[in-house]
Amino acid sequence: MLPQRVTVCEVGPRDGLQNEKKFIDTDDKVNIINKLSEAGLTRIQITSFVNPKVIPQMSDCSEVSRQIKKYPDTVYAALVLNLTGVKRAIEAQIEEVHMTLTASDTFNQKNSRMTTDESLANFRSVAEEAHKAGVKMWGVMGTAFGCPFEGEIPDQRVLAIAGELISMGVTAVNFADTTGIANPRQVYELSSRFKDRWPEMPLVLHFHNTRGSGLANVLGGLKAGVTMFESCVGGVGGCPFAPRAVGNISTEDLAHMLWGMGIETGINLGKLLAISLEVEKVLGYELPGQIMKAGPVPFRINYPVEI
Ligand code: ZN
Repeated sequence: MLPQRVTVCEVGPRDGLQNEKKFIDTDDKVNIINKLSEAGLTRIQITSFVNPKVIPQMSDCSEVSRQIKKYPDTVYAALVLNLTGVKRAIEAQIEEVHMTLTASDTFNQKNSRMTTDESLANFRSVAEEAHKAGVKMWGVMGTAFGCPFEGEIPDQRVLAIAGELISMGVTAVNFADTTGIANPRQVYELSSRFKDRWPEMPLVLHFHNTRGSGLANVLGGLKAGVTMFESCVGGVGGCPFAPRAVGNISTEDLAHMLWGMGIETGINLGKLLAISLEVEKVLGYELPGQIMKAGPVPFRINYPVEI
């Protein structure tokens, strides 16, 4: 039994671009986000409110937030790591913040200069601030399937951190495979354990294709009843703190696979493919997305391609 409908959550403008050495013009970012909305993406993580000295690519977070066209059916979210971040996000009228930590202490130190427990303590005040402003929150947990520095992360630890995040009033929990360590069986098992414990709490999964298991991991999640997955247009992205991390799963490849499985996403694949080619032009190198090279399966004509 697979879900009939899946929400594809685009994270290209943030996870995809944050690692780019060359600064991408704010106009280009805004243009890409607007087109993603037009292509039917109903959730877009547009930027992150983090220290611009550490992630200079995201230094235009406020401008991007203000300049994009906001479609009524799309949620525009931003990543935050601490109180300063959430305050800036609220000021820029972000409607949903993704409070992000990692299950691994070592990784969290690199990402946020805090231990995981310190991040959790910090999130209490982040949550209070967001709550006062009427801003929704997600709890996002990187390295949920293992850490390049610490190795295996026990499920009990991942679920305990999820419980802390849920106690703060998040509207969804996100398990991220930051460095492409997960396998489909592990995804199925961890997601099932989460869903057994919190059947009402939406679970989001975020995969990197570092070791070629990205879309297979999606299937692991689908089988556990997960209906929200994050991906990046063109398969861009990496992580500035993760050694040899490569791209996220590609939004077109994900949308195309789901369509082939008879699972609705509401995405116009033709429009999405045009965006991936445009992003490739902006970045100036070949992107890892596969459908943008091979094209959709040509004889399945009922797909909303509209190229
Ligand atoms: Zn990622």
